[in-house]
This record gives sequence, structure tokens and C-alpha cells, in this order.
Amino acid sequence: MNSGKENLVPQKIPVAVLAATGSVGQRFVQLLDEHPWFEVTALTGSDRSVGRPYGEACHWVLPEPMPAWARQMIVEPTLPEAVTAKIAFSALPTDQAGEIEPLFARAGVSVCSNASAFRREPDVPILLPEVNADHVRLVEWQRRERGWAGCIVTNPNCTSTGLTVALKALQNTFGLRRAIVVSMQAISGAGYPGVASLDILDNVIPNINGEETKVEWEPRKMLGEIQAERLQLAGILISAHTNRVAVSDGHMVCVSVELGIPASVEEAGRVLSAYQAPLASGQLPSAPQPVILLRDEPDRPQPRLDRQTGRGMTTVVGRLRPDPIFHLKFVVLSHNTIRGAAGGSIYNAELLVNMGIVESTHPPGKG
Ligand code: NAP
Repeated sequence: MNSGKENLVPQKIPVAVLAATGSVGQRFVQLLDEHPWFEVTALTGSDRSVGRPYGEACHWVLPEPMPAWARQMIVEPTLPEAVTAKIAFSALPTDQAGEIEPLFARAGVSVCSNASAFRREPDVPILLPEVNADHVRLVEWQRRERGWAGCIVTNPNCTSTGLTVALKALQNTFGLRRAIVVSMQAISGAGYPGVASLDILDNVIPNINGEETKVEWEPRKMLGEIQAERLQLAGILISAHTNRVAVSDGHMVCVSVELGIPASVEEAGRVLSAYQAPLASGQLPSAPQPVILLRDEPDRPQPRLDRQTGRGMTTVVGRLRPDPIFHLKFVVLSHNTIRGAAGGSIYNAELLVNMGIVESTHPPGKG
């Protein structure tokens, strides 16, 4: 007699990485190695790479070795009919994402995207599970409006990521009015090969195309509230300066913030250190532990020393002090290709599974 026990054995969920050969695509491959819930069944690329073994098509630049299973996989075309997967992790450039991601969503695949193509769509959530797990509800509206069996969810641009986690902790207790933020962004944020060495060595470039607009708007969406199925943007006003600096990984942001009600450095420090992810996301395999690490040394965080905190998923805050114009100022550091890109997308996918958007036999929790 069938005991039914085999139905309780979790099957890994088949996933594809779209644009697996680039800077973010490689991070996906590395972070998905031995993931407890997901199994990579397809790696895709452009015409340049299609038909070649991944180990040959990909110029691997990570310090971690390329997983053995990936080396021999043949790079597939980026088309839904070429892959069998329930989830597609997209590291596509924005223009291609705008055309290709809807094809996957229509075909029943849940797309977890790094690209900005759909972030401004009102029915597409920009997710940080430790901040706004409840925004997954927009997917129901998205599916109804667009007739998709799958869906698209996105992560924010990598500079907004750590910034928004820190702002969320302060928003919950004190409210938020205005912020001035200045970024120092790593070169890996520009993809591979990215910024020419002769431009960036011994230099700072005080412009990153389109980035300031994203940093001024995306946190407002993530910090907003869903009311009657519509997302209301948070009222905070943000002014951003974005700069490229000669750091390999890790985006740092200097923040001056005006709160809804004044807070002392001690009160704000307690709130930042105590911040917890919501119940739906706090125990997922990629959940940052802790969500925020508050450092009290006068010269931390630093990208080289602190970007791997919490396996690159923790937001590191430091230099918390009074601001003579607003209320507080501090520095935020977040790993741009882990928490700000591939790791963030994987965390989003775990949330979709936990909330039943992607069907699986996996129980909630660490798997
Ligand atoms: P990248 O290193 O320049 O890689 C681009 C990738 O796109 C390659 O895998 C390339 O494949 C693929 N590609 C190009 N045209 C394609 C096409 N027509 N069809 C299929 N694949 C195509 O870029 P990246 O830094 O990984 O960025 C990827 C996306 O993530 C972008 O939307 C970016 O804005 C976003 N993002 C990046 C970061 C970061 O820190 N780097 C953070 C957050 C978000 P081939 O090698 O086969 O040509």
C-alpha cells in the first residue's frame, strides 16, 4: 500500500538563469550551487554564447570556483520554449528584459528580475523581503490584469537596496520626511567588462546614467503601502548623488535623513539593531542574519572589510550621528551583486514559494 510518504519528500524546483554569463548571471550560478530548494535546469545567453558549454562561453570573474555542474551545461537561447523551469532568474540587460521577461511570465514562469524594465509598473512589486514581503500581493492583480499564469517581480537597483532596508527600520518607529544620499558605487555594478580601467583607476566618476532617478524613486515604492490593491508611494523625498569609485564590490551610501519625529542617536541605533524581517521572510534560506548590523567603530563600514557580512546579505550601517541640518546621518554598505542583485532575486523567489505564488512541496522555513 502506498503510504503517501513520497509526497512529503521535497522535490527541488527547476529554475533557469537568463543571461547567465554576465556579472550578475555568474553570481546566480554561484549562489544557486547546492541551494536547498532550487535546481538549475537551464543557463541562457545571447547569440554570442548559445550552443557553447557555459565553462567556455562565460568569462568567470568570481573568487569562488565555477560549480562543476555548470561547466558542461550548454548555453540555451533566452526563450521560454528552450527551458523547462518554474522560476527564471533574469540578469538580462534592461532593453532585452522588457521584451523577453513577459514571454516567460505568459508561459507560466515566475520571473525574478534584476532589470529596471518593469520596476515602475504599478502591478509589479519591487521586493526586498525583509522590508515589504506584503507587496507580493500585487502579483494577484498583475496576473488578473495581464492574464499571465506566471509573473514578474523585481529587485531594486543595487544602490537603493541597503539604503531602503535602513530607512525602513527608521520609518517604522519615527516616520520619514526627507533624505539626501551620496553613493560610492563599486565597478562590478557596471557589469562585465564594465568601466574601462583607464577611466576608473585613480579616479571617481560623478555620474552613473539613470541611477539618481532610480535611487530617488524606487525606495518610495518599496516603503509605500498597498491600499485597495493599489500601491501608494511613501511620502519621503530623496535627493541622490551617485558616483562610481575604484572598489570591486560593495556599494556605500552616505545618508542624511529628516525623520517624522526627532530621534536621538541612541534611540535610532536601538531601532536599527533590533530590526527584524516580517514573519513571511525572516527564516527563508537566503534571509540576512542579522538584517542590519550596526557598527560603532569610527571608520566602518568599509567595502573590503564588511561586504561579506551575513554571506553578503546583511545591510551594514555605521557612523550614526546627529545631522546639523536634518536629524541623523549615517553610512550604509550593501554587497551589490549579492544582496543588491543575484542574492536578492533568490531571496525574492524563496518568498514567492513561501507565499504560494510558486507551487512546491517545500514547507516554509529553511528547507
Ligand atoms: P553584464 O555583465 O553586462 O552581462 C550582460 C548579460 O546579458 C550577459 O550574460 C549577456 O550574454 C546577456 N545578454 C545580452 N544581450 C542578450 C540578449 N539579446 N539575449 C540574451 N542575453 C543577452 O551585465 P550585469 O551587470 O550582469 O547586469 C545584468 C542586469 O542586472 C542588468 O539589467 C543590470 O542593470 C542589472 N543589475 C546589475 C547589478 C550589478 O551589480 N551588476 C545590480 C543590480 C541589477 P552573453 O554573454 O551571452 O552575450
